[in-house]
Amino acid sequence: MKKIIQKNYKAVLDEINETIYKYNRKNVKLIAVSKTFPKEFIEYCYESGQKLFGENKAQELKNKSEFFSNHKDIEWHFIGQLQTNKIKYIVPICEYIHSVYREKELIEIDKKAKKFNKKQKILIEINSGEDSKSGIAIEQFDYFYELSKKYENIIVSGLMTVPPYTQDKEKLKEIFNSLKNIRDKIYIKDTNFKELSFGMSNDFKIAIECGATFLRIGSKIFGNRNYGSGV
Ligand SMILES: *Cc1c(COP(=O)(O)O)cnc(C)c1O
Repeated sequence: MKKIIQKNYKAVLDEINETIYKYNRKNVKLIAVSKTFPKEFIEYCYESGQKLFGENKAQELKNKSEFFSNHKDIEWHFIGQLQTNKIKYIVPICEYIHSVYREKELIEIDKKAKKFNKKQKILIEINSGEDSKSGIAIEQFDYFYELSKKYENIIVSGLMTVPPYTQDKEKLKEIFNSLKNIRDKIYIKDTNFKELSFGMSNDFKIAIECGATFLRIGSKIFGNRNYGSGV
């Protein structure tokens, strides 16, 4: 597996770099989405130079981050549905929480960030369609942004979305561009609000073209996921 993962990883990096060059982009960061995959897979990818990893379950994140506690330069990103009672595990570990869209999550993140004496960077998740139940409707953005800004220990750092699984490039561009427009508008007055988290294995090139700053790529690096029973 080591050879396969390292080869996949290099191929993904090459494609990303070509696309960055083509569209003259800067500040595009790759998050290797390691959810459901064993720790060794993270190690192989890390050995090839990858530092940002994404997980979507609090317990799995905690186990993996403890296992890699001697790899001080790993940066963990939480990209999954939040459960309020598990935020206490996520905050001390993660550089960014990508998937925030409910007031109760803001309250709990702020509380735990205070406790751990940190300012937690978060992204606001926008719902862009059928395939995802999470995120706020784009029309609710202004309201939720103003709400988020009230919390002292939270740094509102941008937007995230999971688009519908589609080959329709125009549809994807429309979704990504609508997020970019919001980001550009807010960034003028709030320079912390700079990140755009979209672009997965099947749409990352369009995402780069449309301004993504965080790509979240899993299966193209690690292979197909087996969620096991009950997931
Ligand atoms: C699993 C997951 C990804 C990675 O998806 P791939 O298609 O495997 O690249 C990205 N973002 C989120 C929120 C995910 O849950």
